[in-house]
Amino acid sequence: EGAGGGGEEYLFKIVVIGDSAVGKSNLLSRFARDEFDLHSKATIGVEFQTQVMDIDGKEIKAQVWDTAGQERFRAVTSAYYRGAVGALIVYDITRRSTFVSVKRWLDELNIHCDTTTAKMLVGNKSDLENIRDISVDEGKRLAEEEGLFFIETSALDSRNVKEAFQIVVQEVYSNVR
Ligand code: GDP
Ligand code: MG
Repeated sequence: EGAGGGGEEYLFKIVVIGDSAVGKSNLLSRFARDEFDLHSKATIGVEFQTQVMDIDGKEIKAQVWDTAGQERFRAVTSAYYRGAVGALIVYDITRRSTFVSVKRWLDELNIHCDTTTAKMLVGNKSDLENIRDISVDEGKRLAEEEGLFFIETSALDSRNVKEAFQIVVQEVYSNVR
């Protein structure tokens, strides 16, 4: 039994990937600190944030990694992916190019992580309904084809942000338990 008296300790590395400006850093800051930045700079960002979560009464630490802008140079390093047991693949529902890129991100993920990695397709910026370019159905369809969970989020108004991380962590937990 661990020092906390709670038995095993769980620390899960979760990576957030996707094209530049889809909202990865803001999803993480919304999740970890309940903050949003309208003018976030792509280069500013911490490596990861650790958030304690309660899953089935177990205390689980989700260590969520942010690319901190590396993706602009198509150079997300293998260190970034190393040991990841969960991933959020994010696109922007208002920009089709970011949705098209999802396959490329999945390919990269599959090179670095094994097949048991829990994967969530995240359509972010759901608050921008008026300029939506990717329908919910289209997102769902891609997720089904690729065997991913699917959710739409808004880091701006907080919608589904906690849920996105929670579902991934829950899945990782049920895989290792
Ligand atoms: P990253 O490059 O993927 O890390 O994207 P950022 O988190 O830096 O966000 C890029 C831009 O999109 C910033 O101007 C954010 O304010 C904006 N943004 C991020 N998430 C949302 C969202 O859910 N809704 C809206 N309307 N804007 C968002
Ligand atoms: Mg960022």
